[in-house]
Amino acid sequence: MSCDNTYIDYLLEEIQQEKQPVAFMEVCGTHTMAIAKSGIRNLLPVGFKLLSGPGCPVCVTSQGDIDAVIELVRQPRITLVTFGDMIRVPGTHSSLQEERSRGADIRIAYSPLDALEIARKNLDREVVFLGIGFETTAPAVGITVEQAAAEHLSNFSVFSLHKLVPPALEVIFSDPDIKVDGLICPGHVSAVIGIEPYSILAEKYHKPCVITGFETIDILEGLVMLLRQLHCNRAVAEIQYRRVVRNEGNKVAKETLKRVFKPIDARWRGLGLIPASGLELQDEYQEFDARSRFAIPYIEDIPIKGCACGDVLTGKITPHDCLLFGKACTPLRPVGPCMVSHEGACAAYYRYTPLKGRD
Ligand code: SF4
Repeated sequence: MSCDNTYIDYLLEEIQQEKQPVAFMEVCGTHTMAIAKSGIRNLLPVGFKLLSGPGCPVCVTSQGDIDAVIELVRQPRITLVTFGDMIRVPGTHSSLQEERSRGADIRIAYSPLDALEIARKNLDREVVFLGIGFETTAPAVGITVEQAAAEHLSNFSVFSLHKLVPPALEVIFSDPDIKVDGLICPGHVSAVIGIEPYSILAEKYHKPCVITGFETIDILEGLVMLLRQLHCNRAVAEIQYRRVVRNEGNKVAKETLKRVFKPIDARWRGLGLIPASGLELQDEYQEFDARSRFAIPYIEDIPIKGCACGDVLTGKITPHDCLLFGKACTPLRPVGPCMVSHEGACAAYYRYTPLKGRD
């Protein structure tokens, strides 16, 4: 314990010596929550910013896609199985929670395999799993689809809104309005994809990237690694989170992704349409694709009035800058997804730093 404290002091001292303005983005929602909870921001020198990025999968799901899922649950005999956060995300005119109160069969699960079990036990229902998440969660959905195919389970399908992180980071780095000097890269996603995608980005945009763990000591060490690269004018990808992330990632998970999914263009809240940044099922698994099975139309995005989630997700503003923060928008009555999700930046700020201070 005392060794850790000494090391934390040592890391903090190095960070606090920074005199130049610097802005690093934490890509992952779990980092956003960990940084808010730890109070690290209050210990940073003036001009040292930590910006939240597009790493909360619920938050980056576009408004049109949420409205499309709501269309789906209004169809007869549909049972939608989803992770908990999605149910409270407001669509344009409704939410899954409201649809459930009107009689839609919407169930919360902790694993896509739960949805498979529901399908086996309810052969008179069409059971749809809502696939939300990045490279971390998509492999488990892929395995579930393969299992459904092996069992010839004809009443199971997936509404895939899965997204890939590296294409979004490319947008962040190439947008001149987003001032980011380096990335704190997501630990969980990187455990699957490995270091290579970040090496490509770091070299192309000359910005350092450090894959970082989630303990306070990890985050501080990640920040020091980023700073040292900046001071030496280096820009490479490094792994701080060595106890979990290997250079090559998780080969089994990557192979599952390739077998079951193929990349498609996808809409991101705040970032717009990004080429090859989403995942849809491979042709051989098309019968398990809920969008085509139930002919769900493409629905245009209608921005939520007053909600600045798009700018929060790209680090252009902090949640405190949104006029609705803590007033019209709270975790009990969320206006946008960043206040709903347990990984959302607005929820993190509301919980740990409700008053504007050192953003
Ligand atoms: Fe959207 Fe609420 Fe966050 Fe404002 S505080 S950006 S309305 S989620």
